[in-house]
Amino acid sequence: MTYSAQFGDLWPSVRIGLLSEQKYGALINNFSSEERVTGDLRSMGASDFLHETPHTSDLSCYTFPRGDITRFPPARSGARGLLEYYLLDAASLLPVLALSVRPEHRALDLCAAPGGKTLALLMESCRYLAANDASLSRCRRLRRVLLSYIPQELHSEERLRVTSEDGTEWPEEAVYDRVLVDAPCTADRHSLLEEENNIFNRMRMKERQVLPLLQTQLLLSGLRAVVPGGDVVYSTCTLSTLQNECVVERALGLAASEYGIRTEVQDLRCFREIFKKTFDFQKDCRLGELVLPNLTANYGPLYLCKLRRLH
Ligand code: SAM
Repeated sequence: MTYSAQFGDLWPSVRIGLLSEQKYGALINNFSSEERVTGDLRSMGASDFLHETPHTSDLSCYTFPRGDITRFPPARSGARGLLEYYLLDAASLLPVLALSVRPEHRALDLCAAPGGKTLALLMESCRYLAANDASLSRCRRLRRVLLSYIPQELHSEERLRVTSEDGTEWPEEAVYDRVLVDAPCTADRHSLLEEENNIFNRMRMKERQVLPLLQTQLLLSGLRAVVPGGDVVYSTCTLSTLQNECVVERALGLAASEYGIRTEVQDLRCFREIFKKTFDFQKDCRLGELVLPNLTANYGPLYLCKLRRLH
């Protein structure tokens, strides 16, 4: 009922996308990849959607063309015993690309597990990455992912730190050049298809009701942790404006009134043009960008908004 009012005529097509099998992308592991792997993926009909665009990035992610629902085989171990690619919703790389991490940057991934975006951030080769997730069990999964994909030399304290803290109580202020706040949300696609531990269970009603508050607090932590002049990307995998645009607006207001932090929303409209061959974007998202599920390009939902801290 909420989404049919929010999306109008577009809703039936978004809904059928959400109810159908999602598409994946194969994020190539820069630390192990060999020509053979990308050759194999190309021979299956997949191509690197990032290298077909003007966006410069160290990442390579293979996807099948629109309308092609071929599945990727599971990744195998390659050179150095590391897995050759990581399967993820290709749209979930957009927040990482929006962060534009450079080799001199210190970055924080505040809600990191299971770690798809953490891997992408490491492959963008930032100087230092702090990866955090409040859930101990999910943090264990994050560590396993890192061990399977990242070479030994990067598992050093100077390059990578993994913690399991409550991100709303993050103690560091004005330390990081880039912060990713990939917040917990109603995870719409997952919630539609999985019964177990579903956030729409009556038992979890309270938790669901306070989600926008938790998201706002996490984004506030991100805005406090970034240095003036640095960027924060807020992202979710829900279509809900209450968890997306409204959270951004509320956090920007509170950052100014409670902490004197001024921020500016960065324009990501160019993403719509650059990535239109691969993803369907909502055309009139009030703040930030939203990738909409669609049967021919069944990625998302993925919301992202980039914020620059001014002082
Ligand atoms: N970034 C991850 C990735 O790309 O694989 C996905 C993150 S998932 C959308 C959100 C995560 O936030 C969950 O793993 C959850 O455990 C974590 N989380 C929930 N509440 C948190 C909090 N207060 N502080 C930090 N992390 C939290």
